[in-house]
Amino acid sequence: MTSPGSSELGRCIFCQKTSGPFRSVEHIVPESMGNISGRRVLPKGAVCDPCNNYFASKVEGPVLGHISFQNLRAKYMVPTKRGKTPFVKGFAHNTDIEVGMRLNKKTNRLEFFAIKESQAAEFERLKRLDAMFVRQNLLVFPMEVDPPQKEMSRFLAKMAFEALFERFCNTVGEKAAYKIISGEHYDRVREWARYGHNFDEWPYHYRAYFPEETLMEHPDTGEWVQFGFGCDLLLTSIPETYFVFSYYGHEFVINLGGPAIKGYQQWLSENNYVSFLVEKKGSFVQSVTENGEEKHFLVPLIVLPDA
Ligand SMILES: [Zn+2]
Repeated sequence: MTSPGSSELGRCIFCQKTSGPFRSVEHIVPESMGNISGRRVLPKGAVCDPCNNYFASKVEGPVLGHISFQNLRAKYMVPTKRGKTPFVKGFAHNTDIEVGMRLNKKTNRLEFFAIKESQAAEFERLKRLDAMFVRQNLLVFPMEVDPPQKEMSRFLAKMAFEALFERFCNTVGEKAAYKIISGEHYDRVREWARYGHNFDEWPYHYRAYFPEETLMEHPDTGEWVQFGFGCDLLLTSIPETYFVFSYYGHEFVINLGGPAIKGYQQWLSENNYVSFLVEKKGSFVQSVTENGEEKHFLVPLIVLPDA
């Protein structure tokens, strides 16, 4: 993607400044969501460090640290970019005490702890009551995916805009990609991702599409691995450009052109509600029961010839 001698890089696609610095590598999907292969990254010089840092702390951070995504990452042991496995977030029933759960790899036992230092003593007290059977110390670890709307929308907008730039780089080259992406046609999504002040909200479409446990064949090793993240751009016949993002079967879709999702709902109804990332890529999810346990596999669609 980065051709030697390319002179275009060094102007940020978000703030459009050339001041930089441009030391960081921008991951379209964050490393802490499993994007560690180095495949979905933008060339150095596409996003400046101030924008990269801003996204990490103000856009990606609130989404990744939200209980919805943190617990998904913890459940499937997706390490952070520093190699740590996130703990599962929850709370002690009927209290506001936030409780974390993690596996102690040395003892192979689950550990429960107060997330906030200020609640540690109260949590210890609850545990003592529990030991005396005074209180049924019920801990609750919610697993539903319901991220904060605005942060999630801006997170999707950021990935969408970067995926679009990546696509243009690959098809028409960096110079033309910069020209297209700098046009005012993309000001709305650029501003929404980077500043978030041009609209009150920018809706996205969400559905739980396939089971979280679905396995796929790793493209390089051929081993069956969890189907973690997937994303692509969808151009509808209207025409509108959508960014489709899937995380453990949870599908989020945002319109790159503006805060409306109607065109995607229309695309769904015209396409029998299949997934752009599954059936439209020639696959489907096959569920089988093995020893009483249900398993799910992403397998190729085979079209049988007419008999
Ligand atoms: Zn910038």
